[in-house]
Amino acid sequence: MNIRYEIVPESRVEPNLRYIAHDMLGFCIKDLNLKGKPKLEWIHELEYSCRLYGGEVFEFYMLVRGLARPVENIIQISIDGNIVQVMETAAHEARHIFQHFNYPSHILADKTAIEHDANSYAKDAGCALLKYWPDNPLDAMRCTKKEMYVKE
Ligand SMILES: [Zn+2]
Repeated sequence: MNIRYEIVPESRVEPNLRYIAHDMLGFCIKDLNLKGKPKLEWIHELEYSCRLYGGEVFEFYMLVRGLARPVENIIQISIDGNIVQVMETAAHEARHIFQHFNYPSHILADKTAIEHDANSYAKDAGCALLKYWPDNPLDAMRCTKKEMYVKE
């Protein structure tokens, strides 16, 4: 059964989530040399038939934290995740846009490889972002991430 999502106006998104997503996208644009900033859309899993934010509704075949639409240059990020998930999703989806324009079609057809590449990029980008933005207000998260990376 398809999952229904509602597009959430950015003004209704928690400021910390907006801050980290835009920061991460800014980093990825430079790091991946993307042409033009992808348009960021926020989405929310619609659990009820009524919309919560008055936004447009669309369906997708699975539950996702984010989606990339490379041709339209749109990245969609779920507001249902926590701040680390939102940060990694921004990088993950930016990587999908990069892949679309840079990888040969036989690689793009390998969904497992493509997802692995995007996940691994998101981890590296998360680490890089937190390192180069030492003044960002996410001290608690940064500590958690550091511990995570020490273990890996
Ligand atoms: Zn993906």
